[in-house]
Amino acid sequence: MIHKFDVVVLGAGAAGLMCAIEAGKRGRRVAVLERAERAGKKILISGGGRCNFTNIYCQPEHFLSANAHFAKSALARYTPADFIALAEKHHIAYHEKTLGQLFCDRSANEITHMLEEECRAAGVKIRLNVRIREVQRTDEFFIRCDGDEFHAPVVVVATGGLSIPKMGASSFGYDLARQFGVKIQKTRPALVPLVFGAGDREQYCDLAGVSAEVLAGCGEQRFRESMLITHRGLSGPAILQISSYWSKGKPLRIDLAPERDVTAALRDGGARNIAAARAAFQGVLPKRFATRWLDLHAPAAKGAKAAKDTWSKQELDELERRVHEWVVVPADTEGYDKAEVTAGGVDTDELSSKTMEASKARGLFFVGEVVDVTGHLGGFNFQWAWASGAAAGRSV
Ligand SMILES: Cc1cc2nc3c(=O)[nH]c(=O)nc-3n(C[C@H](O)[C@H](O)[C@H](O)COP(=O)(O)OP(=O)(O)OC[C@H]3O[C@@H](n4cnc5c(N)ncnc54)[C@H](O)[C@@H]3O)c2cc1C
Repeated sequence: MIHKFDVVVLGAGAAGLMCAIEAGKRGRRVAVLERAERAGKKILISGGGRCNFTNIYCQPEHFLSANAHFAKSALARYTPADFIALAEKHHIAYHEKTLGQLFCDRSANEITHMLEEECRAAGVKIRLNVRIREVQRTDEFFIRCDGDEFHAPVVVVATGGLSIPKMGASSFGYDLARQFGVKIQKTRPALVPLVFGAGDREQYCDLAGVSAEVLAGCGEQRFRESMLITHRGLSGPAILQISSYWSKGKPLRIDLAPERDVTAALRDGGARNIAAARAAFQGVLPKRFATRWLDLHAPAAKGAKAAKDTWSKQELDELERRVHEWVVVPADTEGYDKAEVTAGGVDTDELSSKTMEASKARGLFFVGEVVDVTGHLGGFNFQWAWASGAAAGRSV
């Protein structure tokens, strides 16, 4: 059977639903085709089930992209305040957890219900369990699915990235872009735990579960948040954030005691030995981690004799320097299985920053995670999904 629409949106995630709502409100006949058995599945698991749906401090600096300016226009035209107003209209209770991150008080379910309700009100048809076999174009687009064919002059690709293949993530959006001659920036897992090499794993991973507030850096980028030791390496907000800037072979520089002078007491007349250092470090870092880190990094730690060693001022200065610059070279990331998002994607040079339309393929739009715009941790990725979805929905 053939169905004719003004706009067909591929993918009923955050970006696709927002796009459909905005287009539907403008009187467009919109269909959303979704492969899964329900809309917005990733929204449901997001933010630990409470969906960190935006961040009130959202700025273009919170996004990575080959073109740092691309996201500005869409972000300025659909702001956190716009999404908050929508949530409030639907009586969704929310709170700021930390650093401007807004979460639902009750459940992420409320966000998907809200989006579905808005779709209904705008006359949008959502089709679930759809297998898209082929997308072709003559004077308009033809989307061939099992049994049905959808015709429309406009197709919006909102099929997300590669993260969490268990939930059905695939390269569909990137493949479609290539099919229409639209370039892709190399994709990689982002907001993802990092894996130690064998040596570091042996030295630290029995401490799995230990966390500390650190300043994690890679290149010019720094994040001050908590770090967690896992069974395979490092995680926690600071590491997830910095992972988006990390690539194989690069060192991480981790300040384990930001703005603290850990060895001050030792330098100012106290004992200058491992016992005094342990006491000082344990006041700043979790006990087991402080002990382990010192065993591995204290100057000239000479086994049983170490307790009696007295360190020079230079040795103490070096110890202080090292605690503020623990250099770790991760072996890898945990990959797309554990990545919250996919960095890279549809090259923004190929898209209008105002409408998200591909310049080489008129009528074809890309929104959300499939585009080479990746937010920091903290509600920024949903804000990009809402903003890019709205930008396309207001133009199609
Ligand atoms: C565990 C987890 C927690 C997260 N928590 C947060 C958070 O709290 N805050 C935040 O800002 N971000 C969070 N994110 C990131 C956020 O979920 C994504 O950035 C966002 O969902 C991207 O929206 P999207 O619409 O582009 O893609 P998606 O939400 O992935 O939606 C894509 C949709 O397209 C469908 N689809 C895919 N291929 C096809 C096809 N061939 N045919 C039809 N349909 C298809 C998919 O089934 C899916 O429904 C989290 C991610 C994960 C994995």
